[in-house]
Amino acid sequence: MTAAREERGGSPMVEAMSDRVMIFDTTLRDGEQAPGFSMNVVEKLEMARQLARLNVDVIEAGFPISSDEDFQAVREVAKTVGQLEHPPGICGLSRVALGDIDRCWEAVKYAKRPRIHTFVATSDIHLKYKLRKSRAEVLKAAVEAVRHARGYCDDVEFSPEDASRSDFDYMCEVLEAAIDAGARTINIPDTVGYAMPQEWGERIARIRERVRNSHKAIVSVHCHNDLGQAVANSLVAIQNGARQVECTINGIGERAGNASLEEIVMALQTRKDVFGVVTGVRSEEIYRTSKLLSHITGVHVQPNKAIVGENAFAHEAGIHQDGVLKEKLTYEIMRPQDIGRSSNKLVLGKHSGRHAFKIRLKDLGFELDGPELDKAFKRFKDLADKKKEVYDEDLLAIVKDEMTQVPETWVLDYLHFVSGTGLIPSATVRLRREDQPFQDSGTGDGPVEAVYSAIDAIAGIKGRLLDYNLRAVTQGRDAMGEVSVKVDFDGTVVVGKGSSTDVIEASARAYVNAINRLVRPAPAPQVKEIGP
Ligand SMILES: [Zn+2]
Repeated sequence: MTAAREERGGSPMVEAMSDRVMIFDTTLRDGEQAPGFSMNVVEKLEMARQLARLNVDVIEAGFPISSDEDFQAVREVAKTVGQLEHPPGICGLSRVALGDIDRCWEAVKYAKRPRIHTFVATSDIHLKYKLRKSRAEVLKAAVEAVRHARGYCDDVEFSPEDASRSDFDYMCEVLEAAIDAGARTINIPDTVGYAMPQEWGERIARIRERVRNSHKAIVSVHCHNDLGQAVANSLVAIQNGARQVECTINGIGERAGNASLEEIVMALQTRKDVFGVVTGVRSEEIYRTSKLLSHITGVHVQPNKAIVGENAFAHEAGIHQDGVLKEKLTYEIMRPQDIGRSSNKLVLGKHSGRHAFKIRLKDLGFELDGPELDKAFKRFKDLADKKKEVYDEDLLAIVKDEMTQVPETWVLDYLHFVSGTGLIPSATVRLRREDQPFQDSGTGDGPVEAVYSAIDAIAGIKGRLLDYNLRAVTQGRDAMGEVSVKVDFDGTVVVGKGSSTDVIEASARAYVNAINRLVRPAPAPQVKEIGP
């Protein structure tokens, strides 16, 4: 156990004044709630494993009361990642309703380091329109919730939602009462991304002064990026005594997103002279974590995204390139390897065996066994036959396809299409369902449409394509194509993903994936609450 890990278990009073900043990752809760970023239980587990490798302090794995699927996801993360040798804390979000807290505990209790994070809004606008409660009622509910949670575990976090628009004196009163009731962490969220750095920093300093018992808790911040200040606000909060920041990989989250983990961590590391604090994050896992999230969600970061964007370390301008060639430090403030970024490394070839393949996948964050490994290995061999060089990115694309994202009701078995100038594109497709083959054909304005018509005919549905995205996974003419589609099936919108060196096959796989998601959809959320 490292010193930093031990420190966490120590007295919160010591922790509050230490130079160690806790990284609380909410990719799987706040991030996952955002439209287009939803993840199923298996995907959340894969992501949680990688977050543990990244060595974040706490993983907020979900909001257990919100749906059965979210409950299951938090419980599975607690049972697996929460049981590692040096596990991160596994946290569930909960409203102050006592039943919500019971449900949250049921999910996180399997972890070695369980945490319950309870929240209630303290701004007048939320009190009046959302909660329809008086200030006194909300204060009482907060105290009862924290006490109830402490009955289950020591590690309880409390957030006054919409803190940046709350009456300052009243919010401090609630925080003080929450700490007296046993909250170990008080988290100050800028729920609507309204704060500006200078005032936010002053506010954090004033909270620490004003809340009589603030030294007994870790002060945390949770900043949204509506005005592009989430990372700046998180950093200025640290300068004013916050010792936990809540953030997400790639900055995903509600609306414009949350503070991005990689930007905070690398700012603290690169400008240690300014901040004088450390985190426990293994920065060399950052790039891999960012890529994994993109693969799982099908949403890629913009090329100029700080730290993890495609161009973040590319020095294209002639004068820069000259400088970098002579001495890297002329323009590079960070090294690509600091975040674990190696340029398209050749990892495996045609003759690589199953064992090497499995080990490489493990390095990339995937632990496959049994039939899943067999299927992925077969696709790797097929790919290695078609493509001379197989990169990490190719492997990620294969594995993402093979992971049991949804039960595979329909499986693509055979695909043939004809297209060209002066021809009507046509396609023949065979799908299997419970080992029964079904075959049909279709025509269209292009080969993709022809393939989709054939699939529609087999599955007996009609999908309307809302969005179609094709990107090359790696460089080169023989690169794999990754297709993501958004399809409207009679009012239900589903996202599907697929990859192949043949872009028509990738298109077919993506469409079949969407149909499988439609046939076995995730249960609808029971609670439509957003949270801090
Ligand atoms: Zn949030």
